[in-house]
Amino acid sequence: MCPWPRIQGAMLDEHSLQVTYRFDRGEPRGPHKKGATWAGRGDCIDCNACVVACPMGIDIRNGPQLECINCGLCIDACDEIMLKVERPKGLIAYDTDAAVAARSKGDKAVYRLVRPRTLYYAAALAFVSGLMVWGLMTRSPMDVHVLRDRNPTFVRMQDGDIRNGYTLKIANRTFQPMQAHIAFEGVAGASLKTPGMDATSGALSVTVEPNQIRAVRVLVTAPADGLLHANMPAAFVVRAGDADQSIETTFLSGAANTR
Ligand code: SF4
Ligand code: SF4
Repeated sequence: MCPWPRIQGAMLDEHSLQVTYRFDRGEPRGPHKKGATWAGRGDCIDCNACVVACPMGIDIRNGPQLECINCGLCIDACDEIMLKVERPKGLIAYDTDAAVAARSKGDKAVYRLVRPRTLYYAAALAFVSGLMVWGLMTRSPMDVHVLRDRNPTFVRMQDGDIRNGYTLKIANRTFQPMQAHIAFEGVAGASLKTPGMDATSGALSVTVEPNQIRAVRVLVTAPADGLLHANMPAAFVVRAGDADQSIETTFLSGAANTR
């Protein structure tokens, strides 16, 4: 499912440096006996060491292939063989199709590293890198998600008050402990409570460790008299230092405004 080979195939042209079998030097290929002449034949001794070494199981001598991940293992395998048969290394090497084709015709290989395609890619890379740096520099030091309880959606307390349960996931993207203050807006008289802390009508304070996400269970209780609708729009407002985030949610009360 990896899309990289398709992308790589679309990006390359005949002047791209890639793992290449230099057929101008390797052909005609064939087995070689020690002491035999190299005249009239290529350097490839058809040993298949490059095919055996390839993790993708391809034969690079058939030309550039989409499956090639440019790992270079075939280069090392072939260089070892070239050393053993006392021929120059680099029968498989980083080269361009245009250079191999030129040498095959007896022309001098020309390498064009700067061309419209490489300039366009460099510009695109600089643009994307700039976007990433800008994103990193301007990202919020805090991220908050709210999940409301679904079962039950609300609880009617003994005194008639209505309670809704939520789980807040607060991410601290800094390298310092973060003190987050959680407030609830939109429902008159609401008080907040989290396990281990007393209920408060103000903001709850929790500490989130550096580079951690903390799940905070928050129970919001409101007097039924103040609930005008069965489904009240509300919001959690979380503040930490200069950062603040407001996350919309709902406060459910079923048959509201009745005790
Ligand atoms: S570079 Fe790697 S994947 Fe490509 S042909 Fe050589 S060994 Fe195979
Ligand atoms: S390892 Fe080198 S010599 Fe052996 S088959 Fe591959 S290209 Fe030819």
